[in-house]
Amino acid sequence: MTATPVRIERIETLLVDVPTIRPHKLSVATMNCQTLVLVRLRCSDGVEGVGEGTTIGGLAYGEESPESIKVNIDTYVAPMLQGLDATRPGAVMAMLRKRIQGNRFAKCAIETALFDAQARRLGVPLSELFGGRSTDAVDVAWTLASGDTQRDIAEAEAMIEARRHRAFKLKIGLRAAAEDVAHVVAIKRALGNHADVRVDVNQAWTESEAIWAGARLAEAGVSLVEQPIAATNRAGLKRLTQLAHIPIMADEALHGATDAFALAHERAADVFAVKIAQSGGLLGAASVASIATAAGIDLYGGTMLEGAAGTMASAHLFSTFPSLKWGSELFGPLLLTEEILTEPLCYQDFKLHLPSTPGLGITFDWPRIERMVRHAH
Ligand SMILES: [Mg+2]
Repeated sequence: MTATPVRIERIETLLVDVPTIRPHKLSVATMNCQTLVLVRLRCSDGVEGVGEGTTIGGLAYGEESPESIKVNIDTYVAPMLQGLDATRPGAVMAMLRKRIQGNRFAKCAIETALFDAQARRLGVPLSELFGGRSTDAVDVAWTLASGDTQRDIAEAEAMIEARRHRAFKLKIGLRAAAEDVAHVVAIKRALGNHADVRVDVNQAWTESEAIWAGARLAEAGVSLVEQPIAATNRAGLKRLTQLAHIPIMADEALHGATDAFALAHERAADVFAVKIAQSGGLLGAASVASIATAAGIDLYGGTMLEGAAGTMASAHLFSTFPSLKWGSELFGPLLLTEEILTEPLCYQDFKLHLPSTPGLGITFDWPRIERMVRHAH
């Protein structure tokens, strides 16, 4: 006798607008608010899974927006998934990848919800479906992105004092390279050996600017340069890596396993920023990490400044990596002014600590979230 199959019954998407604690300046956009795209996936056995498909800066950063994620899930993905076997996330996602092009963030949100539901059903933390943990806590860097040198130094010192962060990523690329380098060097000098300082240029430099700046940043003790030049310029990224002034991290150049393989094959980066959304989901991100590990490329756990769901899904996956040499930047929830969980995530002693309860291991405060949901006019 076969058991009654568990079906996917209903998929609901919510746009949740949450103000950020301060302006977050990137070379491509300034954010004052983050829109979380939450997916609630309900199954016929009463189990619900939650996923998130949050992006950065509207369409300035990538080709998906919160609005496009919602409309594409509601219109195309949800009807396709309704009635399918909820206990087989791998099979459901394989079908979805075959029938829907692109839409990596939307796919990530759905895949996270499917795995959250299945892990809850099995009574295990989500990390156990990805090989099990090698650690219960991941290092978390903080991003200094006010653009003001003194304000950034004060912010970093307060974070070290509170034992919340000791690695700092500076978002640069908006100003002239020489001005940016002076800003970064002043911060590194002020913080000294108490802090690891890295920069993220978000593709803003030309190759010659990157050569010039990389040498000066290395000399000042900056540890890493993230995506200095255009994501499409893989040959340039390889040349910068081979110069070996300073370790080079690929971020925007890395959209899943195919890019990871090409970058690893050419050794066009020293470090990969693994992001579940950019990889099209947890399975894709796991492949990216495996390729990096096989190629001797270091791993860093990236973020799209997701809220609690995307952050915890990422943390579960990152906790299974054999090594997360450069830590993570899973601070998204700390940038938001409103709590969306009944119990906030645990940031302590420079790390994000993972719960051992089933699924993502977090409980959403839906009545509170409802007050921040954007409703169509
Ligand atoms: Mg980046």
